[in-house]
Amino acid sequence: MSVFLRPATLTEAITGLAGPGVRVLAGGTDLYPAAQGAALAGSVIDIAGLRELQGISLHDDGLRIGACTTWTQLMQADLPPALSALQAAARQVGGWQIQNAGTVGGNLCNASPAADGVPPLLACDAVVEVAGPQGLRRMDLSAFITGPRKTALHPGEVLVAVLIPAAGLDGRSAFLKLGARAHLVISIAMVAVRIVVREGVVTRAALAVGSASPVARRMPVVEAALVGLPTAQAAAAIEAAEVAAALSPIDDIRAPAAYRTEAAVTLLRRAVAEAVA
Ligand SMILES: Cc1cc2nc3c(=O)[nH]c(=O)nc-3n(C[C@H](O)[C@H](O)[C@H](O)COP(=O)(O)OP(=O)(O)OC[C@H]3O[C@@H](n4cnc5c(N)ncnc54)[C@H](O)[C@@H]3O)c2cc1C
Repeated sequence: MSVFLRPATLTEAITGLAGPGVRVLAGGTDLYPAAQGAALAGSVIDIAGLRELQGISLHDDGLRIGACTTWTQLMQADLPPALSALQAAARQVGGWQIQNAGTVGGNLCNASPAADGVPPLLACDAVVEVAGPQGLRRMDLSAFITGPRKTALHPGEVLVAVLIPAAGLDGRSAFLKLGARAHLVISIAMVAVRIVVREGVVTRAALAVGSASPVARRMPVVEAALVGLPTAQAAAAIEAAEVAAALSPIDDIRAPAAYRTEAAVTLLRRAVAEAVA
């Protein structure tokens, strides 16, 4: 028998998820379109109203973003400049209806290579907190998304929150997305950068590229090359060959692989220039 559950607590949700074939529903903006007009098969557990999965809060050790935080809530929050990239991404996820319903947790758990929330969070060294029958566990976001539409969630687990460590809140950030048109578009490539500057010199660079490999990626070699440079030289120091070596884009109906790589290089240079301006 299929049932629709709306638990009152996280504990109740985890108990409900123990049944076979139960699906998690947050905003539904990925789940329902994927069903292509058909009714969702099996049982559904609606977590969107769970108090434990709401809210954005600043703590001594960093910032906590509840998994069911919507894009609208994110873009309207008062956040440090290191999260400007995430807020810019929030403003570009679909249109207002999608931003009002879609959640950051749904974006991560859906694990699309084109998920706009992933590069800004990677650039902040985000960690995810997951709850399941065995209790709570944490892992780096880079380890959570394991492939296209694949995550490290075990059966019966729910993503509870995204945590940005205090060090990930340092610096300024920028997000740029290229699609076939300006709005309501799946990214051909998107980048997020976070740059920490002391006395005019780059002391830390975190660069992430999405839609140009099966999973969005950080660029450690490119990042290292920027450290120690005066800010005015940083954008131009991004080597196309080093970016290309870190990506593995595909040819598809949206763009050929070579175009995605070139786009990623251009977007990274522009985003670094914006972040240090
Ligand atoms: C018209 C349209 C435009 C869009 N534009 C964009 C865009 O520009 N950029 C972009 O990145 N995305 C876009 N999307 C995709 C979607 O809106 C986002 O990925 C959104 O953030 C998904 O969140 P949700 O809460 O709706 O997820 P849901 O659809 O509720 O869930 C998505 C998946 O994650 C699972 N899930 C959700 N939350 C949790 C949780 N806390 N724990 C465990 N599993 C969970 C669900 O079971 C499901 O498998 C668009 C979608 C539409 C329909």
